Parts: sequence; C-alpha cells; structure tokens
Amino acid sequence: MTTIVSPPVITRTDGVPVPFAHCEIVVEAREAAAKVLQSGWLTTGPEVLAFESDFAAHVNASHAIAVSSCTAAIELALRSLGLPPGAPVLTSANTFCGAVHAILHAGLRPVLVDVDHLTGMPTEATTRDAASSCGGPAAMVVTHWAGDPADVAMLARAAGLPLDSVVEDAAHAIGSQHGGLAVGQGTTVCFSFYATKNLPLGEGGMVTTSNDARADWIRRARLHGMSSDAWRRYLPGGRWRYDVAQEGFKANMTDLQAAMGRAQLRYLDGWQRRRSELASRYDERLGLLEGVVLPHRPSAPGSKHAWHLYAIQLLPGATPGRDAVADALADRCIGTSVHFIPIHHLSWLSTSVDISPGGLPGADRMFSRVLSLPLYPQLSDQQVDAVCDAISTCLTRSTTTGSTQ
Ligand SMILES: *Cc1c(COP(=O)(O)O)cnc(C)c1O
Repeated sequence: MTTIVSPPVITRTDGVPVPFAHCEIVVEAREAAAKVLQSGWLTTGPEVLAFESDFAAHVNASHAIAVSSCTAAIELALRSLGLPPGAPVLTSANTFCGAVHAILHAGLRPVLVDVDHLTGMPTEATTRDAASSCGGPAAMVVTHWAGDPADVAMLARAAGLPLDSVVEDAAHAIGSQHGGLAVGQGTTVCFSFYATKNLPLGEGGMVTTSNDARADWIRRARLHGMSSDAWRRYLPGGRWRYDVAQEGFKANMTDLQAAMGRAQLRYLDGWQRRRSELASRYDERLGLLEGVVLPHRPSAPGSKHAWHLYAIQLLPGATPGRDAVADALADRCIGTSVHFIPIHHLSWLSTSVDISPGGLPGADRMFSRVLSLPLYPQLSDQQVDAVCDAISTCLTRSTTTGSTQ
C-alpha cells in the first residue's frame, strides 16, 4: 500500500503569471537525494531496485525496469522484439519527436498514422490504412496522448499485430486506466519522468512488461549488456567477474533519481486527483465559450484520463484562431504550448519517416487548432480562472471588433 499525501495548493492572489509547467520536487525527495549523495553510491544500486518494485506495485505490473528516459525505454522495448533492420513500425503522427527518434535508434522505419482531430489519436480506420500502406507493420508504438487511454487491443487488431508487438508510449499516462486496468499492465509500456511529466524527476524513464524474457533482456541491455547483477561488483563483498552475453546500451537510471522517485510516487495519487479537479474546472468555465472545443474524455467504463495535458481546440471563424489566442495569453504571462507539432512538420524527421500518399489530414487539422493550457497539481483555482478569463476576453474582443486575424 502506498500512502496518499495531499498536495499543497499554492493560492496566489495576483492570479498571474501562470507558467505553462511547474516541476515540484517534494521535500522528502530532496532529503532522499541528499541521503544518496552522502552514501557514496550514486549510480544504479539499491534505490533503483526499490523504485522499480514500488513502481511495479503502483501500476500492478509484473516487471518494472528503470532507465534513463522514455526515449531510451521505447528504443530498448523495440530492440527487445528482435526485428529485422528497417522493419516498418507504426506510430502516431501526433507524438513527441523523441518517440520517433527511438524507432530510428532501434534501426527501424517509422510509418506515420493519422489521428482523429478530436481525440489526437489514431483510429481503427487510420491504423488499418497505415498498416496496409506499409505492407504490414512489424510493430506499433501506441501513444496515450495527453493521458487519454488508447484502446491498445483494438489498435493492435486494426494493425494486424499481436499485443506482444505493441509498445505503449505512456509518457503522458501515469495514472491512466483502460478497461479498469492501470496503463502499465500491458505487454510492454514506457513511462517518462521528464521535468514536466506527471511524476517528475527531471529525467528518467521506466519500462513495465508482463513478459519475463523481455524484462531480463531490457534489464541487461540498459547497462552495457552486462549480467544483470554486475552493478553489485563494487558493493562490500562483491566479486569482479561478469559477462556480456548480449548487445548493450548506456541507459541506466541513477540511485539519486530513484530515491527521489520513491518519495515523489507517494504524492502521485493526490497529484492525479488535483489534475482531475482542475480539468473539470477548466471544462466548466470554457464549456460556455463559443468556438472552444473541450478535450476529449474517455467514455468507456473503467477508463480514466491522467490529465497530463489539458488541450483545447479553437475553431477558426468562431475565434481569432489558435495563434492569436496563444499570443494574447503570452501578453498576460500565461504560458501555453502545442502538443504536438506533427512529426511530418519537422524538417529532418519528415524525410526519415513513411507518410502515406493521402497525407495526414487529421493531424494537420488538429495542429492548426490545438492549444495546451497550464495544468499541474500546484495550480490554484484562481489561476485556472485567470486563464479562462483571459481566453474569454480575447474571444469577446474579437467578436466585438470583428477581428478575423
Ligand atoms: C516526453 C515524451 C517522450 C519522451 O520522454 P523522455 O523521458 O524525455 O525521453 C516520449 N513520448 C511522449 C509522447 C512524450 O510526451
């Protein structure tokens, strides 16, 4: 059982500025980090093992392997499938560049799948189209965009792949559930502890898997391919001998990060509850504005959104447009972002991926409208209201002046 600690709510009376992101490292995590620094053992060690075990228990996974980033997690997960070089791998066009780099690092060929412009994720139809355009994929990376749980089994069927060939990108989905199961209980799932993510450590990642052999392979691969207890060789009483019986990489997590992770994890459920409350407050306030489309919410029973992002869409014509609203908010020191610049809009990546001849109209349409608003547990109700007031003012002003910029 993990202890649930309620997060402190910082109430700012001035309301602004509202930064887009905020990274809280709780005092217990700072103390845990200081203890590791004093211990003389900084890199992968007992804290990493303990964090893996705490994390596996939190998402109810069979195995958890801590790594240096989610990008490394996806690369190692794909490599563990043992696919031939250049094999096609489906991935959403609406994802972070790191997830696509991971496919390329693994020596595979990314094939972009178009998204439903309202959910930001591939559908059964777009997945089937992309699968047939590449003559049948060898694997697929499924992104739980914004924390909205994707239907992994449905997408695997549409791609003609067994679940074993699917790697879930759960960088946004710590705390998501699908069909009553926490994201993390799938065959192979990758998480991020990057500074802006729901469980921030600054940097770090985790792979959870239900496949014993895959867990062993990734555990060795993350640290030079050395036998998995090789890190113990410098502990008191340790022995120097080890073997390298497989290919290896440098993608291990440090004890410093892991010790912080264990402390941060105790706050996660409280943080998730606050994220959900804030998303509902945004919904209530923004649902009244014409031209604003609220984020998709999962409707299937047993589904839970992790609310990593709160991303609205601004309809052209009914609003001054996404860029004008983002600029007006920036003028008031309210930070926003766009998730994501679709992969085919990034110049180098666009030449390194397969795009079907019909293009990616869903991703393009969404890209012109989508805007992520500040969302983190430390955000106050007053700050949410300030963001909503600023959007409302911007929309009203454009109606009264007839601005169409
Ligand atoms: C942040 C992110 C990643 C990469 O995570 P890192 O831990 O920074 O490597 C991958 N995919 C998505 C969707 C992300 O948002």
